[in-house]
Amino acid sequence: MKKMVITCAITGAETTREHNPNLPISPQEIADGTYDAYKAGASIVHIHVRNPDGTPTQDVEIFRETIKLIREKCDIVIETTTGGAVGMSPEERLQPIQLSPDMASLDCGTVNFGDEYIENTWPMMQQFAEEMKKHGVKPTLECFDLGHVYLANKLIETGLLEAPYHFGMVLNVPGALPYTQDNLKYMLKVMPENSEWTVVGIGGKGAMMGVADAIELGGFMRQGFEDNIYFEKGVLADSNAQLIERAANMAKDAGYEIATPADVREIFNLKSK
Ligand code: ZN
Repeated sequence: MKKMVITCAITGAETTREHNPNLPISPQEIADGTYDAYKAGASIVHIHVRNPDGTPTQDVEIFRETIKLIREKCDIVIETTTGGAVGMSPEERLQPIQLSPDMASLDCGTVNFGDEYIENTWPMMQQFAEEMKKHGVKPTLECFDLGHVYLANKLIETGLLEAPYHFGMVLNVPGALPYTQDNLKYMLKVMPENSEWTVVGIGGKGAMMGVADAIELGGFMRQGFEDNIYFEKGVLADSNAQLIERAANMAKDAGYEIATPADVREIFNLKSK
């Protein structure tokens, strides 16, 4: 049976301490939380970083420090965001790529985000893919709508990406595609061959639907405070590791082995193999 890859989306750009007081913010907190999530079964960490006041930033020095502290603790696969936060320029968002992380998110289309939106034009997508190729970074093609999966196919046709491709199917972002299993299945239907996928369900219910669908449909899982701050309805999660542990246990109960970082480097044919 296929091994289950679990990504921990540890901080995100939008979650605050007011939402959940256990949110890791500083590079040290992110590294400590990552290590706990790794011990609980995460083999990839998806990172955003913050200024000391908690606001989102793409500052390359803060990414450098965070990655260094994570590397001192474990060999978890590191995926940096290039989504950044609402209102950031493409150049600002691309900064962490110069550090050659193992992987990075690549948003495959402009998306509504509550009252705001995140801009991802077709030229930007090509620019991001080129930059990732230059630095040996594996993109995770984040799709928030069905049309984004078609655009990801078009990006693959440019030859800028290497197989196997990795999709992040993001469901339930306010203003984008709601999470229903039918919607996810349709996205998977449009995904090209030689692809792996991780389901990213937003909110407490979305996160749990993601775990169930990854098990049922043979994909990978993502959990963490970027996507969901609750352990159960009305009860805040104590830590990212608590969410990872539950997902890992559910996958194990369903017969999966949990992938290690070395497995992930193999499965995605990462340059850091
Ligand atoms: Zn993110």
